[in-house]
Amino acid sequence: MKKLVLFFGLGLLFIGCQEKTSSAPFSIVCTTGMLADAVTNLLEGVDSVDIHALMGPGTDPHLYKASQSDVLALSRGDLIVYNGLHLEGKMQSLFEKLNQERVFAAAEQLPDSMLINASDYAQAHDPHVWFDLSLWSMVCQGLSQRLQEALPHAAKTIAKNEQSYQKDLEKAHSWALNKMSLIPEKQRVLVTAHDAFKYFGQAYKIEVRGLQGISTTAEFGLRDISDLAQFIKDRGIKAVFVESSVSPKAIEAVREAVLREGRNLELGGELYSDALGAADSEAGTFLGMFYKNVRTIESSLL
Ligand SMILES: [Zn+2]
Repeated sequence: MKKLVLFFGLGLLFIGCQEKTSSAPFSIVCTTGMLADAVTNLLEGVDSVDIHALMGPGTDPHLYKASQSDVLALSRGDLIVYNGLHLEGKMQSLFEKLNQERVFAAAEQLPDSMLINASDYAQAHDPHVWFDLSLWSMVCQGLSQRLQEALPHAAKTIAKNEQSYQKDLEKAHSWALNKMSLIPEKQRVLVTAHDAFKYFGQAYKIEVRGLQGISTTAEFGLRDISDLAQFIKDRGIKAVFVESSVSPKAIEAVREAVLREGRNLELGGELYSDALGAADSEAGTFLGMFYKNVRTIESSLL
C-alpha cells in the first residue's frame, strides 16, 4: 500500500512538473479553508477553475509549515490567496519569494484603522478577521474584485455571486448580534485557548479572554493559568471552550485549576477558530462554522 501511495505521490509530482497547457483549469491555491470557501462561493458556476486549500480541518495556521507538495502547488498556482497579517507565520518567506502579481493577501486589503492591534507583537495586527462578518464581507469584496480581474470572462457571474453571498453574510451577522444579546451581560464572556475571537467579541459584544495570545506559538505559564482561573471565579463564568485547531490541554489546565477550588466549570464545547470542520459536517463551510460557533456559545453561556 505504501508503495502504491509513493507511486501516486511521484506521479502527481511528475504531472505537476509538466508545462501547463492552455486548456488547464485556472488554479487557485488558498491557505485556509475559510478563504477557499469564500473563493468557492464567488466562483459558483464558473467553469474550468480548480480551488485548493492547503490547510485541512483542524489545522493550526500559526504553526503550519508548507510540505513539498504545497511548495509545488504554490509555484504552479495561477493565483495564491492567503490571509496575511502573519496568520500563516511560518509560510511568510515562501509568499515573499513568489511572483507578487499572482499573490493576494486577502485580509491585508482591510484598512489598518479597522484592525485590532496585537498586544503581544509590536507593530502587528490580529489576523483573525473572519469572525467579524462585516470585516469578512469587505475581504470577500476585495477577493471578488481580484477574481474578476483574473477571470474577466466570468466577471459578471462573480459579481452576481458576490451580491448573493454578501446577503448571506449580512443575515448571519444580524442573527449573531441578536443571539449574543440574549446572554446577560455579566455571563457574556468567552474563554478560549488562544485569542482568536477578539474581532468576534468586538463585533458581537462579548468579552473575550484567551490563555495564549493571538498566535498559538506564544508560550504560557502557570501564572497565566492561575490568573485566568481567578478571573473565571471572580466573574462566576459557567463555561470555557476548546478550539478545534488547538490542543485542549491548555484550557483543561485552567478548568482543573478552577475545579480544585471546589467551583464548577463546564467545558462549553468545541469552537472552530482557525480552521473549518470536516467537509461533510455543518462546520465544513465558513458560514456553517460561524452558525455552529454562535449556537455553541449561546447554549453554554445562557
Ligand atoms: Zn489563531
